[in-house]
Amino acid sequence: MAFDTSKLFQAYQSHETIKEYLDDLVQRFSTKIEIFSQAVSYEGREIRTVRICPDVKQPPRSPNNRWCILIDAGIHAREWITVSVALFIVHQLLEQDEISAKSFRRFEWIILPLLNPDGYEYSREHNKMWRKTRRPLGARNQRRSCVGVDCNRNFNVAWTIGSTRFCSLLYRGERPFSERETKNVRDLFRKLRPSCKFYLSLHSYAKTILYPRAYTRTLPRNWQMQQTIAEAGATAMLKATGVRYRCGSAATVLHQPVGGSSIDYAHDIEKVPVALVMEVASKGFHPPEAQIQRICEESWIGIGAMVNCLAANFRTTLKGSGTLHLR
Ligand SMILES: [Zn+2]
Repeated sequence: MAFDTSKLFQAYQSHETIKEYLDDLVQRFSTKIEIFSQAVSYEGREIRTVRICPDVKQPPRSPNNRWCILIDAGIHAREWITVSVALFIVHQLLEQDEISAKSFRRFEWIILPLLNPDGYEYSREHNKMWRKTRRPLGARNQRRSCVGVDCNRNFNVAWTIGSTRFCSLLYRGERPFSERETKNVRDLFRKLRPSCKFYLSLHSYAKTILYPRAYTRTLPRNWQMQQTIAEAGATAMLKATGVRYRCGSAATVLHQPVGGSSIDYAHDIEKVPVALVMEVASKGFHPPEAQIQRICEESWIGIGAMVNCLAANFRTTLKGSGTLHLR
């Protein structure tokens, strides 16, 4: 039976339903989407990453004219709306054929719609405000056993400044990449290097678009380009719906240094020129389901504008891609 897509953005979807949707898309759009990577979470859930481009069956073209965008969502378990936004991107690219748009078709879209499925399911079923992974910590930590690591403190850039308290919502982990979920992101970057030109990590709900660095106010050399791209997204959304996003470096906007973040990892270690957090504008972490569609549409306008801005104005940044090593 075909998957019913009509209600996809009228409710928050389970890990299982997301899997079914992706399977259905692979059936229906076999030339444009493939499941590109399958990792397994601590609790044994499949973590899928899809690759979308106009011709997935062809070997990646001459490395100079196809670049990658990596988008992830659900790094923080309770930020449900980000998972819907990631699915919406997949939906628009395929079912509305936006992958054929002139500037979009030049990219390989690599999308990880649910980075932390254990945390997401736990948040759906038991504790809406859960943020971390679900791996039990320590052999016997105090009397209460504490669980989980904040994935966005677990990357190996300024990791040491993160929280060492097991029970903290911001616990950094015993070491960088202690979590299967963050190792998976690291492995994706390694497969994509050096073709990945744009990394977008979806969070909610502060209405900000942030670029590196998160751990220090020292800006990256290309900060003006990142600021320009972020502003292109913010301006497009302001025009379309009146929502007002703030743009800036993460450490500046957040007023405190954050270690172990994925954008700093992408930019400083993997040398991805544009590495942004988009804190999707929503009413709390779990906006009413009736608002999902609207929030997804608004976010997609911003994301599309950022991709267009990169493709149109920063051609030299896009040079120097290597061959993709996807397997
Ligand atoms: Zn977050």
